[in-house]
Amino acid sequence: MLVPWSYVRSWECLACGHCCKDYAIPLERGERLGLASLFGPGVVERVLGKDCLKRGEDGRCVFQRRHESRWLCAIQGAKPLACRLFPFKVSFQPLFGRGEGASFPYPGRRVFVYADSDCRGIEWGRPEEEFARKVVPEFVRLKLEGGGPQFYSTARVRPHELPIPVRSIFSACANTALPLAVMA
Ligand code: SF4
Ligand code: SF4
Repeated sequence: MLVPWSYVRSWECLACGHCCKDYAIPLERGERLGLASLFGPGVVERVLGKDCLKRGEDGRCVFQRRHESRWLCAIQGAKPLACRLFPFKVSFQPLFGRGEGASFPYPGRRVFVYADSDCRGIEWGRPEEEFARKVVPEFVRLKLEGGGPQFYSTARVRPHELPIPVRSIFSACANTALPLAVMA
């Protein structure tokens, strides 16, 4: 369920891995071409007529890796925009006729921001200052720019903390022209 951002007290990605399992992650054309050229066509599948990230038999995205108690994305630097934006949805008009509480004052643009209640990193309540001033604006910027660096909008995992197989894929992505994210 999508809930207006002003009902969210704070959000932090717990790297629980829930959102990388069972969801069909749609790919833009450039994302499909970039990932297929890096990792081969087998990382893409068609779902209901759309190009999506391939999922394994367990329903998990093929780029998801278990590391100690967390699930990590092995292509953090090149993950699709849909992954970068989860669990927030940034719209240029109210959704479901529910603009109240979703309107967000972003410089030069009126946007409406909603949170997907399926995410386990959401704390409900009155928005905290960091959430309103840093987290939500970063998601809006990602939406408006179609990607870009991430700090507040991703799990707090540093590259040197990654297991070696994940780190090597991360390095491969870092050597491409695909948009890079700074791991927080
Ligand atoms: S975005 Fe939410 S559901 Fe996905 S890994 Fe982070 S905490 Fe879990
Ligand atoms: S690309 Fe990364 S963030 Fe996106 S579904 Fe796969 S593991 Fe999750």
